[in-house]
Amino acid sequence: MHEVIIIGAGPAGLTSGLYLGRARVDTLILERLAIGGQVLLTEKIENFPGFPDGVLSQKLIDDLARQVKQLGVKIQTAEVLNISSQDKSFSLKLDNGCELLELTSKAIIVATGANPKNLNMPGEKEFTGRGVSYCGTCDAPLFKEKIVAVIGGGDKALEEALYLSRFAKKIFLIHRRDEFRATKILQEEVSKERKIEVVFNTIPLEIVGKQRVEALKIQDVKSKEANLLSCDGVFIFIGIIPNTNFLNKILSIDKDGFIIADEAMQSSRAGVFACGDCRRHPLYQIITACGEGATAAFSCYHYLENLKK
Ligand code: NAP
Repeated sequence: MHEVIIIGAGPAGLTSGLYLGRARVDTLILERLAIGGQVLLTEKIENFPGFPDGVLSQKLIDDLARQVKQLGVKIQTAEVLNISSQDKSFSLKLDNGCELLELTSKAIIVATGANPKNLNMPGEKEFTGRGVSYCGTCDAPLFKEKIVAVIGGGDKALEEALYLSRFAKKIFLIHRRDEFRATKILQEEVSKERKIEVVFNTIPLEIVGKQRVEALKIQDVKSKEANLLSCDGVFIFIGIIPNTNFLNKILSIDKDGFIIADEAMQSSRAGVFACGDCRRHPLYQIITACGEGATAAFSCYHYLENLKK
């Protein structure tokens, strides 16, 4: 029986671990993939306070994980399959890759983050890994001197288009409206990058190719005219889906799958807290995930103290 199990070792979960470690609460962090989560899909972070020249995501995560581990908090690889609650404790069924296990805890912090959304257009699934990608940082070097299409108008799409411009010879940035929702500073950088051609008011319809991506079928939303855009790669950045399926409705979740938790990160179930990108909140940033992780740890600590009374 652990006092707390944190599910997810992204910035939110690691920060919760840091605060609980410092409070000397017996804490285990479970991570199904790599420590760091979605942050590692970006090479450099330019808006984390205190780093005027930006900070490499891998470095930020490595330092944070080291800070957590040196407090005695363990981080283990395992996927949580489901959670059930007993009287003032929780039971978690896990798959650690070798066997199915069961662990118990007095409290849980859900910090499972989110994954990139799919467009679900014809050819997308078929060509994933063969020209279709959801991670510029991972795949951009494969598109050296090639032509790529980037879909989306948020921070992620613009950041990744800029990153791709280091490798690709031409980037079509395709957005369904005539205005980006991305931060202004990213819009300024995109407008200065000559390799990026912005294609507004356009939606993607289909990815076309034989063995690999050869073209993207696009449509002008106003004229309804469809065209084939020749390209070697299609990068899709149209938002995120929270990783909350495994919760099996034990918590209140909104229509998009985000956990509903109050400003103290208290979910609809006593003893379960939620923080970071898996929680419905106004701003999906590393700094807000860290802030929420700290708040979740604080609330969790007080919950455990109250259990002792
Ligand atoms: P986002 O901000 O939700 O933007 C998604 C973009 O995709 C929007 O431009 C949206 O168009 C477009 N889109 C959505 N569905 C589409 C569809 N079916 N077809 C075509 N286009 C579609 O998502 P994101 O950029 O992935 O970022 C996710 C979150 O992480 C955001 O909150 C973002 O601010 C944050 N983030 C922050 C940073 C940073 O601060 N450096 C970096 C990356 C991500 P509309 O605009 O028309 O809705």
